[in-house]
Amino acid sequence: MDAELIRRLTALVGERHVLTGVECSPYVLEGRTPEAVVFPGTKEEVAGVLAAADAAGIPVTPWGSGTRISVGMPPARPGLVLSLKRLDRLLEHEPADLTATAEAGMTLGAFQDALGQRGQWLSLDPPHARQGTLGGVLASNASGPRRHLYGTARDLLIGLTMVLADGSIVRGGGKVVKNVAGYDLPKLAIGSFGTLGVIVEATFKLRPRPDMDRLIVATFERVKDAGQGARAIMASDLIPSAVDLLDAEAMRALGLGGREGAALLVGLDGLPEQVEWQSAELARLLASGARVETRALDGAERDGAWQAVGELSRCAFPETTAVMTWGALPTQVADLVEHGGDIARRHGLNAAFAAHAAVGIITAVLGAGAEAKIAATTVAATLGDWRALVRDAGGHGMLEWAPLAVKERVPVWEPPGAPFRIMQRIKAELDPNGILNPGRFVGGI
Ligand SMILES: Cc1cc2nc3c(=O)[nH]c(=O)nc-3n(C[C@H](O)[C@H](O)[C@H](O)COP(=O)(O)OP(=O)(O)OC[C@H]3O[C@@H](n4cnc5c(N)ncnc54)[C@H](O)[C@@H]3O)c2cc1C
Repeated sequence: MDAELIRRLTALVGERHVLTGVECSPYVLEGRTPEAVVFPGTKEEVAGVLAAADAAGIPVTPWGSGTRISVGMPPARPGLVLSLKRLDRLLEHEPADLTATAEAGMTLGAFQDALGQRGQWLSLDPPHARQGTLGGVLASNASGPRRHLYGTARDLLIGLTMVLADGSIVRGGGKVVKNVAGYDLPKLAIGSFGTLGVIVEATFKLRPRPDMDRLIVATFERVKDAGQGARAIMASDLIPSAVDLLDAEAMRALGLGGREGAALLVGLDGLPEQVEWQSAELARLLASGARVETRALDGAERDGAWQAVGELSRCAFPETTAVMTWGALPTQVADLVEHGGDIARRHGLNAAFAAHAAVGIITAVLGAGAEAKIAATTVAATLGDWRALVRDAGGHGMLEWAPLAVKERVPVWEPPGAPFRIMQRIKAELDPNGILNPGRFVGGI
């Protein structure tokens, strides 16, 4: 990288907030080391860094905690990593209004801790909930089991401040200071994977913490029976916060059973009497199905199980080979899990599945089989068959994680289809020089 740009960045944020050379090694992405890592401390500094990079034509990778940084195609060119680490302050919490504003580098864990002191929370529980930053959660549209009842970031985000590639600071939604004409900025930023701007602040709608929070584990003989159980719950008067379906491998990984069967994890929260009534009703509802055992988890056991579900891709196998996220109709979930397992076995690999059963999002984790060394071609063939399976059922598959040798053979994203022209137009307007995460997102945006 040009020495003049490094000098400019150093002048902007201070010498100790710019890393170069070997110091950049914690930020290696897909085997590529960034040319520099810069840590701005204010949104104005973020603006200065982006304007300088834009003028120099240097690509920028916005970086929160790095928990989902590998999602996407490998970067076209290793440029600058822009870390949000120093933008980690809670700016405003209005308990009476149930709203809070924080800087985007604040971790969700720290945010929840601060809100918890006033008996409130942000009802989002994505994987890596403690480490992930608010900006990263929004940019990757991350959500967890409680999406079933509480929705995604899109339902909870009130306003957002973003710095565009040219350094302009724009705000959309609640408490508008300056808006980008015609765009709903918060909606645009959610799921944009850092391709449209750097999120620097966000305002959220909060909820009071429930008085009681319980997790029921119901185990079944077959995945099919668990699928029927999930459908029975959806058709009932119950209002669970989460309904997750696990296959036998996922149960084993979470310490919930052996190598057979399937399970439903059902979250119930609210007033104690509501939770007790729903627990009894759930047990009655599931008892009429195939052989089933139900057990309630509270406290640390419950928290541990929820966290492990989110981190299945890490804990399912000693070595994860690839992770794919499927989106499908809720009614197809059990069938897809069963057939996905068959496909992996046919290729000599193991698979574990955890699904938000009622919203149709399935995490499919691929692990090694009997052979210790797995060829990238075998993994790619399995992923290709998985994608065909899900597409035939009207869904789609996104390659969440895989080694580079596999990514070179399997596209990360589904073909974008008709909306792509609109995406390209928006990208061209907000980032005309294409410096933000170039080449990483859908259609090579
Ligand atoms: C056409 C398309 C295909 C995708 N395919 C998959 C897939 O197969 N599996 C998967 O898990 N994820 C896919 N994604 C990524 C997806 O945005 C996030 O991964 C998210 O998990 C999906 O959430 P959603 O379905 O609620 O978002 P969607 O409703 O699909 O919307 C995506 C969000 O991202 C924003 N967005 C879309 N395109 C751009 C862009 N070019 N630049 C900036 N922001 C953009 C939109 O404004 C929208 O808010 C795809 C996204 C798009 C746009």
